[in-house]
Amino acid sequence: MSQPWTPPLLPDAAFEASSQAVDRALSRAFPRLMDVAALLSPEASRRLEDLAAVAAAQTLRHFGRSRLLFTPLYVANFCQNHCRYCGYAAHVAMPRLRLSLEEVAAEGERIAATGLRHLLLLTGEAPQRAGVDYILDCIRLLAPRFPGLALEVFALTEADYARAAQAGATALTLYQETYVPSVYRAMHPAGPKANYRFRLEAPARAAAAGLPSVTLGVLLGFSPWRQDVLALVAHAWHLLERFPGLEVGVSLPRLRPHAGGFAAPYPVADRDFVHAIVALRLALPMAGITLSTREAPRLRDGLVRLAATKLSAGVRTSVGSVAGSEQFAICDTRSVAEMAAMLRQQGLQPVFKDWQPLGEAREQAA
Ligand code: SF4
Repeated sequence: MSQPWTPPLLPDAAFEASSQAVDRALSRAFPRLMDVAALLSPEASRRLEDLAAVAAAQTLRHFGRSRLLFTPLYVANFCQNHCRYCGYAAHVAMPRLRLSLEEVAAEGERIAATGLRHLLLLTGEAPQRAGVDYILDCIRLLAPRFPGLALEVFALTEADYARAAQAGATALTLYQETYVPSVYRAMHPAGPKANYRFRLEAPARAAAAGLPSVTLGVLLGFSPWRQDVLALVAHAWHLLERFPGLEVGVSLPRLRPHAGGFAAPYPVADRDFVHAIVALRLALPMAGITLSTREAPRLRDGLVRLAATKLSAGVRTSVGSVAGSEQFAICDTRSVAEMAAMLRQQGLQPVFKDWQPLGEAREQAA
C-alpha cells in the first residue's frame, strides 16, 4: 500500500538561494521543488520586480484579462472547535445563529441581484446545529441560482462530498491553515478540527467524490511563511498529479483582527505577502489564485494585475445580514459594482459566471 502523502517541510537554510538559482527557477515553465524554494528565498525578495514581471506574463498567458468575482455567504456560526485565531471559536462569546432555509433563499436572491453567479457557502463545525443535512438543503436551494457553488465548511467524508456534489456543489475551499503539525496542534487545541490528517486529506476526498474544483490555502501569520507556502505548492502538485483534470486553486489569507483578539505571532509584511503571491503564480502557472477582502483595496488592485484571478466582492463575514455576528474584520468593503468598475478601469474583464452545468447548456441550446 502506498504511503499517505506528507507535505515537505523544508528548514530555513533551504530557502537560501543564489541569484543564479533564482534565474534558473524563473526560466522554468514548470519549476521543481527546489526552484520554488529559490523563488521564495530572501534573494528572490530582493528581485521582486523580476518575479512580478514574469508572474504577470504567466497570468496573462493562462487567464487572459478575465477575473472572476464571487461572494461568501455565512449560513451559520455555531462551532465546537477552539481555533485560537477565529471569532467563531467555541470559547468566544458571540451571538450564535443559523439561518432558516427561507433566510438562506432570501440571501441567495439578494446576492443574485448583484449579478454574481459564484457563491462560497460557509459554516462553522457543529453537526448538531448545522450538520451535513442542513448544508445539503442549502446547496439544493442555492444551486439553481449559482452555477458556481463552492463549500467552505468543515472537512467531510468522501461519501458526504459525493452527496454535496450530487446536490449541486461544484467546488471545495478548504485551507489547511498551516502544514506544520506542531503549529497546527497549538492553533487547534480541541474539537474535531484538531485532526490534522483528516483535514489534510479532505481535498483529495472531495476530488475522489467528484467535485471538479478545490482551493487550498494557508493562513499566514502562524509561523515563518516560506515553509507553509512551499508546502501549499507541494499539496497542489500532489493533487494535480493524482487527479488529472482537477481544477486546483490556491489562496493565502492573512490573519485579521476578530472577536477573540488573537495576535499573529509572525505577522507577514505587505512586501512578503506580494512576494508569496507572485511566487505562487510562478510555481502554479495555471492555478486560480484567490485574493480575499482581508487585504486592502490598493494591494488587491495591484495584485489583480500580477497574479490574482478570483476576488471576493460585496463581502459580509456575518451570518446572513445579522450585524454583530462577524467572523473577522474585512479590509476591502467595496461592492460588486465597485469591484467590477475597478477591474474595467485596469483593462480587465470582470466575470460573474464562467461556466454552467452541461445539462443546463444543452437545455439552452435546444
Ligand atoms: S476557523 Fe472554522 S472551525 Fe475554527 S473556530 Fe472558526 S468557524 Fe470554527
